[in-house]
Amino acid sequence: MQRSSDLIRKGGKSIAFVPTMGFLHDGHLSLMKKGREMADVVIASIFVNPAQFGPNEDLASYPRNIDGDLNLLKKEGVDIVFLPNDKMMYPEGFQTYVELKNLPNYLCGLSRPVFFRGVASVVAKLFNIVKPHYAVFGKKDYQQYLVIKQMVKDLDFDIEIIGASIIRENDGLAMSSRNNYLNPKERIHALCLYRALLKASELIRNGERLSSEIIDEAVSIIKSYPDTEIDYIKICDTETLYDMEIIDRPVLMALAVKVGQTRLIDNMILNI
Ligand code: AMP
Repeated sequence: MQRSSDLIRKGGKSIAFVPTMGFLHDGHLSLMKKGREMADVVIASIFVNPAQFGPNEDLASYPRNIDGDLNLLKKEGVDIVFLPNDKMMYPEGFQTYVELKNLPNYLCGLSRPVFFRGVASVVAKLFNIVKPHYAVFGKKDYQQYLVIKQMVKDLDFDIEIIGASIIRENDGLAMSSRNNYLNPKERIHALCLYRALLKASELIRNGERLSSEIIDEAVSIIKSYPDTEIDYIKICDTETLYDMEIIDRPVLMALAVKVGQTRLIDNMILNI
């Protein structure tokens, strides 16, 4: 992969890179399209990164469909797909990780303690392997997008990070490979995340400025759906992720909810 990227760069062409864990959907494909707008060559990777899964998480059951993914990427006109395996990425003796000090102390970092260390480390490795000029990340994983931007800044990666909007199903559910875990009933209940976000944006539009009031409403919406368990619902600063009590500028509302056994996340920037 490194030699291929060297050749592309030597030929004066630019590279856009889209890292994924596969089981691709239209959300992923929108990132490929964005990459195509930015650069001459689009490179995707598919790697289910063990370092970002905790011991009780879904590494073993994470959905996989390499043949289907490769078909979709071919149709999308992606030029190269990088498919490393665990041994190539983490050979015996591997011992270097990238850890951020502040951003992982919020939102998903609290319930997934190794997650951002795993993400930052694998993305740093992938950047050194693929050598892109641009890398595209979805704002569906907003905290991850901030973590990567911060890492690139702190470690002087010469790469421009592009953020891409959340792609949703027709009824509003944010697309996710994990939606595949939902049974038909849970698929309906999964709409509670988007409903809570919509309610929040409506409240703000109508003049509500107290985060606690908005979060209370969101909690009661989620609780009205059976078999749901809230991990967090937060209204926070769009850059630092600090909690915001009074909404006096655009804020990030982010939430994680377990629907049955499936943990789903979603978010929305709420404008005043
Ligand atoms: P994943 O395969 O879940 O690790 O996701 C790979 C990339 O796709 C990440 O940058 C995600 O943020 C992005 N992504 C996943 N779902 C969506 C979505 N519904 N809309 C936009 N981007 C997404």
